[in-house]
Amino acid sequence: MVRLGIDLGGTKIEIVAINPMGDVLLRTRVATPQGDYLATLQAIAGLVEQAQNQLALSYKPSIGVGIPGAISAKTGRVKNANSIWLIGEDLKGDLENLLLRPICIANDANCFALAEASQGAAFGAKSVFGVIIGTGCGGGLVFNGEIVEGANGIAGEWGHNPLPWNSQYMSNQACYCGKQDCIETFLSGPGLAKRFKEVTARHLTAQQIVEQMRQADQQAIDIMNAYYDWLAKGLASVINVFDPEVVVLGGGLSQIHELYDEVPKRWSKWVFSDEVVTQLKAPLLGDSAGVIGAAWLWSSEG
Ligand SMILES: [Zn+2]
Repeated sequence: MVRLGIDLGGTKIEIVAINPMGDVLLRTRVATPQGDYLATLQAIAGLVEQAQNQLALSYKPSIGVGIPGAISAKTGRVKNANSIWLIGEDLKGDLENLLLRPICIANDANCFALAEASQGAAFGAKSVFGVIIGTGCGGGLVFNGEIVEGANGIAGEWGHNPLPWNSQYMSNQACYCGKQDCIETFLSGPGLAKRFKEVTARHLTAQQIVEQMRQADQQAIDIMNAYYDWLAKGLASVINVFDPEVVVLGGGLSQIHELYDEVPKRWSKWVFSDEVVTQLKAPLLGDSAGVIGAAWLWSSEG
């Protein structure tokens, strides 16, 4: 049976269809309708219908959805989403009504971590911390091949802790969650761009900052050096609690290849151990990991 996985991201919605071996049969993406919940539902329904037609399926495939947030155990509604137009909505119920089948929903970072631990960069590792650094900054824990959900459904969510160990570029920057100087306001793409602008008055995207660094632009080099430290500190605080064998990065900023050399060189300064054997790895499933993990949610739920 074919399974569908959907990754509902801040900027794009992606769908994959996989067969029982995990091979991707189809993959499509559309832009996320910004700020519009109903249009977001319609976009998802459109992708599902298109996939079913394209594959000429005679049955309704299972659907797993990765979202940039969590489902509240108390209300069943979306919480903690940086795509704030999803917050408080009954996404599961609305999609079930629209698509006429049960839907499995999980945090996108959890989906990402599950996919990379099951068949990707962290294959074979017992304990894995999967991090998504892109529009936002999420995290998910996998232990013995299973997502650690946690009592509040937020295990691994490190992005809204304050960045530990004081850093330069601290500027009491407000986060959408209501607090200040959250890890996400440093490590997300928009966060990096905003802090760069505060210091240099230059409007560059995260990607442009990285390009400038590679062309020896001193301001870009300086902020990227700070960025390596921020990521090393953020991850060190997780290593000090969960002590994973592997940390896998995902999301747009995981494509910065310099991270895999610079960050492990720095994190031992803050990890409470004489040596750090934790490995920092690039995603093996590319940017499809989250969406593939979403498709596998049904098998992990039985
Ligand atoms: Zn926050």
